[in-house]
Amino acid sequence: MEWFNILKKDNKSYIIREHLHWEKTNMYYLVGEEYNLLIDSGTGITRLKEVLKHIDDKEIRVVSTHVHWDHIGNHCEFDNIYVHEREFEWIKNGIPLPTEVIKNNLYRGVDSKYINHDYKKFKSESANIIKQGYEFNLGNRNIEVIDIPGHSPGHIALLDREKRDIYVGDTLYQGRLFCNYESTDPLEYYKSIEKLYNMRHLYDNIMCGHYKALLDKTYIIDAMTLMENIKHSKNLHHGSGVHIYKNLEIIM
Ligand SMILES: [Zn+2]
Ligand SMILES: [Zn+2]
Repeated sequence: MEWFNILKKDNKSYIIREHLHWEKTNMYYLVGEEYNLLIDSGTGITRLKEVLKHIDDKEIRVVSTHVHWDHIGNHCEFDNIYVHEREFEWIKNGIPLPTEVIKNNLYRGVDSKYINHDYKKFKSESANIIKQGYEFNLGNRNIEVIDIPGHSPGHIALLDREKRDIYVGDTLYQGRLFCNYESTDPLEYYKSIEKLYNMRHLYDNIMCGHYKALLDKTYIIDAMTLMENIKHSKNLHHGSGVHIYKNLEIIM
């Protein structure tokens, strides 16, 4: 079986799923007239660039929804990387986690036939810095950067107004959401969900970093209710445990 499961969402947008990995990480490949934008590069267990070139071989630029190991694994294959200013240090110096911890997570349950290189932490001094308001102009196609910190300090969403898609990385998906690491921030997370909720007239499809790639926008309404419940019960802080509403679940 192929490591990547590729789905064509529309004539210019592809969903790339690591469907054989326990984390079910999703990446997205947006085709423009001048260049293509890759949203995240996955775990890096299997190399990605050649696979993308077969879909469309224009220049590729890579944007990180956030700098966690499971979303930057193939960054080393590309020259043109974009990262939020609040996570530039993690790209410059490498993620502040021991390599062994990352490897234990990365290779859990993975058939060794898919692993064809040694894991090395990605580092780059030449990444381009972005933040709220930055726009990628792919040629007849614009993708906007929206700051949504909380799961990580420089987490972003990417909005495609034309296709009515919003790419939200690890801020919203169907599975346990994480706001319990030291570098997460429950109050920022709340504000980011509220921000996405207030923008919901601009999109129909929520494109997620893990598990089911495309959720309809009722999920942002449910996420808002979940966060409101947490706030009203005075649990909007680290150590308050797991909170559940309908199909959503978050650990703080
Ligand atoms: Zn993450
Ligand atoms: Zn993730």
